[in-house]
Amino acid sequence: MKACDKQLDLLIIGAGPAGLSAADAAARESLDYLVVEKGLIADTVYHYPIGLTVFSTVNELELREDTLRPCREKPTREELLSYYVRFALDENLRINTEEEVTRIERTDAEGFRVRTTRAHYAASRVLVCTGAMARPRRLGVPGEDLPKVRHRFTEPFPYVRKDVLVVGGGNSAAEAALFLSEGGARPTFAIWPSDWENRDPKKGCIKHWVREPLEREIEEGRLRLFLFSEVEEIGETGVKIKDAEGSSHTIPNDAAFILIGSDADLTLLRDVGVRVEKSGLTELPVYDPETFETDVHGLYVAGHFTNSRHIKEAIAIPRRIVPVIAQSLRAAV
Ligand SMILES: Cc1cc2nc3c(=O)[nH]c(=O)nc-3n(C[C@H](O)[C@H](O)[C@H](O)COP(=O)(O)OP(=O)(O)OC[C@H]3O[C@@H](n4cnc5c(N)ncnc54)[C@H](O)[C@@H]3O)c2cc1C
Repeated sequence: MKACDKQLDLLIIGAGPAGLSAADAAARESLDYLVVEKGLIADTVYHYPIGLTVFSTVNELELREDTLRPCREKPTREELLSYYVRFALDENLRINTEEEVTRIERTDAEGFRVRTTRAHYAASRVLVCTGAMARPRRLGVPGEDLPKVRHRFTEPFPYVRKDVLVVGGGNSAAEAALFLSEGGARPTFAIWPSDWENRDPKKGCIKHWVREPLEREIEEGRLRLFLFSEVEEIGETGVKIKDAEGSSHTIPNDAAFILIGSDADLTLLRDVGVRVEKSGLTELPVYDPETFETDVHGLYVAGHFTNSRHIKEAIAIPRRIVPVIAQSLRAAV
């Protein structure tokens, strides 16, 4: 295990939009910083479905005004991913990829030791930007651990002419069902009636540009809509599922996608003493809404696992707080 002797000003955990924006701001403040990323640069975007067009507009996604230029109005996964990677390369951001942070420890009033799968680092400040994709939610039903069951969707091609069940209520599940239908699978989209009836963009309804082609697939008989109340069991060849009225059905099945959201892994924060509170279905670290500093002095949070959930805020918040962190470091000298 390599020990890094020098004390970094700022160690940033995660190289998603929040971590990239933080690294860019840290470089502009001339901080001695490092980003440690367990996967690849923009790993969450890398895991979006292949060929997906994202829903945000260009100005909400870019790290410098007028530098993201997709072929159509909104970028695809591929355009957005190569934009973030190119940005990190052009700005020569200091990012270690495929290195996971396993523990943050307080050393003294002005410092932390950060342990990773490859090294130990000493840092005066730590900014955690680890996103909210670590723990896909599970139905908790028998058969959910079968190899044919997935909690992420990336592409339709392995499922051509296969019976595929998609379970979920949001846009990601609807998009997966649509991609599978257009891609030649025989999908059943199992959705709770309240989610199917939800038309409110503020309450996470299916986006209209997904819903319209999805409804066309349903009308033309390529996609089966199943308003359900409960998945009872996933078997090798079939799934037992109750409809909205509570009657049980067994439908043929070769593969299943359970796309019901995901939660952040807040273990790193909890273990160093950050208070975590319940917020609806999920949990949030306690932090100052102005500075994003947690109740552990010198430890900050940004991005998807805070109340600022979208890429626009994941980029904007570090731009605001890194100069404040730089100021606090200068004041401490
Ligand atoms: C299919 C899909 C489409 C989406 N489309 C949009 C959209 O159009 N617009 C929008 O605003 N949002 C969209 N989102 C949500 C968007 O991806 C997130 O809001 C965004 O990625 C948040 O950025 P972030 O930097 O906070 O977190 P992330 O991008 O999730 O980055 C967190 C990073 O931290 C790394 N990490 C985690 N734990 C550790 C550890 N212990 N050590 C080191 N590294 C670690 C992860 O590997 C990851 O790279 C979409 C999400 C999905 C799944």
